[in-house]
Amino acid sequence: MTTIAFIGLGNMGNPMAANLVKAGHAVLGFDLMPEHLETARNNGVTVMANAAAAAKDADVVITMLPAGKHVLSVYEDIAPRMKKGALLIDSSTIDVDSARKAHAIAAKNGLHSVDAPVSGGTGGAAAGTLTFMAGGAKAAFDAAEPVLQPMAGRIVHCGDAGAGQAAKICNNMILGISMIGVAEAFVLAEKLGLSHQALFDVASTSSGQCWSLTSYCPVPGPVPNSPANRDYQPGFAAALMLKDLKLSQEAAQQAGAVTPLGAEATQLYALYSALGNGGADFSGIIRFLRGEQA
Ligand code: NAD
Repeated sequence: MTTIAFIGLGNMGNPMAANLVKAGHAVLGFDLMPEHLETARNNGVTVMANAAAAAKDADVVITMLPAGKHVLSVYEDIAPRMKKGALLIDSSTIDVDSARKAHAIAAKNGLHSVDAPVSGGTGGAAAGTLTFMAGGAKAAFDAAEPVLQPMAGRIVHCGDAGAGQAAKICNNMILGISMIGVAEAFVLAEKLGLSHQALFDVASTSSGQCWSLTSYCPVPGPVPNSPANRDYQPGFAAALMLKDLKLSQEAAQQAGAVTPLGAEATQLYALYSALGNGGADFSGIIRFLRGEQA
């Protein structure tokens, strides 16, 4: 049994913490929102008064927070009070620069650290099938792997500090761009009188094949469990896609990478969200491309 502090018990954090409890770990939790603490308590998490109290005697601290500034402020608060040699795992999706700063805070305080963002959404968090993309030293990764296991379908060591966040935003930039591409193809097919099913049957086994088409088809019918079949209830909300695309563009600018389609996808998701669709699934962008009101 490992003593794990879990900080950030929102849509993702609470089901992840619940899986750690089920795996037999002692889980101490903290969140700023009382209703999230109530859910955590019902899931068997020991609720603490603040982040430092949760982290003080923990072997491992996992953070699942909105953005880099939250992670850095929590790390500044807890790292000096933790046991030397303990492990920090940040599973939030944050910018690469903040992720590297978080590793530096850990190192300065004699702690091991891993950035380990996830894909798989709230469904994957509940089912314990998330993909973790990890960055950090090999020894830290080796210590993190068994802790992540009860929450994971797959765990990939991507490289040194920040590599997990880098993998996450590169992957999600592909996803944002490919969803727009697939949606445009369906809009064109509609104008040409080609049925959704016919385009799907051809493209899903041809060179247009991709996850946005075959697992997450943006029109109802061909993939029965895709959000298009439930009026674009998420799934993966457009606001979260926009967040990840913005992170990709921030990183591209800092690193000097040329990503014109990433930039265009960011603008399209910004427009789609500004029209009031931030809470809809990101595949709903097809409605925007048709010129429909949500
Ligand atoms: P959420 O807003 O539901 O949860 C974040 C929680 O952090 C909130 O409960 C908030 O009260 C808490 N919090 C903020 N500052 C805090 C602090 N200083 N101390 C303690 N708690 C604090 O968000 P979420 O959907 O759970 O996402 C968490 C992270 O995971 C984000 O970085 C997001 O981008 C990423 N992510 C989300 C999904 C998804 O489908 N929801 C998928 C993959 C990755």
